[in-house]
Amino acid sequence: MNNPFENALAQLERATSLVSFDPDFLRVIRHPNRQVRVSIPVKMDDGRLEVFEGYRVQFNNARGPYKGGIRFHQDTDIEEVKALAFWMALKTAVVNIPMGGGKGGVTVDPKPFTDGEKERLSRGWMRAMAEVVGPQQDVPAPDVNTTPQIMAWMADEYGKITGDTSGAVITGKPLDAGGSEGRGTATAQGGFYVFESLRERLGLPEQCTVVIQGFGNAGQFAAKIWSDAGHKVIAVSDSRAAVVNPEGLDVAALIDHKASTRSVRDFAGAETIESIDVLYQECDLLIPAALENQIHEGNVEKIQAKVLLELANGPTTPEADDALFGRGIPVVPDILANAGGVTVSTFEWEQNVKGESWSEQDVFEKLKVIMDREAVAIADRAKELDTDLRRAAFVVALERLQEAMK
Ligand code: NAD
Repeated sequence: MNNPFENALAQLERATSLVSFDPDFLRVIRHPNRQVRVSIPVKMDDGRLEVFEGYRVQFNNARGPYKGGIRFHQDTDIEEVKALAFWMALKTAVVNIPMGGGKGGVTVDPKPFTDGEKERLSRGWMRAMAEVVGPQQDVPAPDVNTTPQIMAWMADEYGKITGDTSGAVITGKPLDAGGSEGRGTATAQGGFYVFESLRERLGLPEQCTVVIQGFGNAGQFAAKIWSDAGHKVIAVSDSRAAVVNPEGLDVAALIDHKASTRSVRDFAGAETIESIDVLYQECDLLIPAALENQIHEGNVEKIQAKVLLELANGPTTPEADDALFGRGIPVVPDILANAGGVTVSTFEWEQNVKGESWSEQDVFEKLKVIMDREAVAIADRAKELDTDLRRAAFVVALERLQEAMK
């Protein structure tokens, strides 16, 4: 499997060959400011003590406090977290919010954990990281396998250690623990605004057939938002299986099925197929919403979508990007498409810092203005540079970062 940080650097090189940047800036921006690795001992329910490795990579804070989620996954390692932190630094610049880029993680499969075990792991991560995070320093958020409840445990632990109970140290909290209206759906909602702004330019019809890989926070809300808007979601997957129905899936029933059985497998209204095969379905729009490196040299030829919109971070390798570009298949890149999550996270942070509480309507209106504006700016830049949307998004983000670092 490709090293995601090497992929990120390859993307950087491709973009910086189009527009000239200060060589000193380019030397610095390839390196994270700080990488923290910690051991987190956790007492399991059966009395055993297990020790997990945890990470926080603080990539760049020239534009504001480090910002980025925490991932709990068995394949997570420092290279993955470094790549995700780098993409965060670019993403906050793409949407022009006053934040830098960071990311965290733990190498762990939390699926078999009880709530008590998850709570002790989450509090342990925060205890180990309390001196490097903070509302004006570094503000984490949820990512794969981390939930609003986990954010609440971490915020509570930070409050116990430092006395700062504003909640502004972490975003994605439940509403009654200082969370923001709209944060749960923000990643998918932001992606949808980008899609709507660019739909015609991307050559897509008014009603699209949609395929989604991954059925967690990003994927489930995407399925709901696109189908509520009249598009037809014809296939989705999770790590265990995929389900397909060319006539359209009943998304609400599928969400219930996933909640009760913990998988999309054997959903009554569809055919169950291998998880990976979801990527190869013929459709207008393919939304990767799972993990990195899903579309690569070895399978890109099987893609039959007209357009890709990346809600996941890093789902397409640079080689696959080239192949798709060559076939005229546009890819709306992660650092634009999924930036709604960090944007509403920043709204949450702002509300906590100011002691305010904004309505859902307010949150979505502000989000839409940002996503529409930056989507159009990046599409225009791509046209001007005669390049793809990813390179254009990198150029826009790097120009803003360079300006801030000067
Ligand atoms: P999640 O844990 O809620 O869901 C992940 C989903 O992916 C699950 O349904 C899981 O079964 C599925 N999955 C895992 N491996 C898979 C595989 N090999 N094939 C198919 N499905 C697989 O996580 P999430 O928060 O929805 O994050 C998904 C992606 O979106 C990640 O790349 C994450 O970095 C990105 N993202 C999330 C947010 C956010 O706000 N949650 C913001 C920006 C980007």
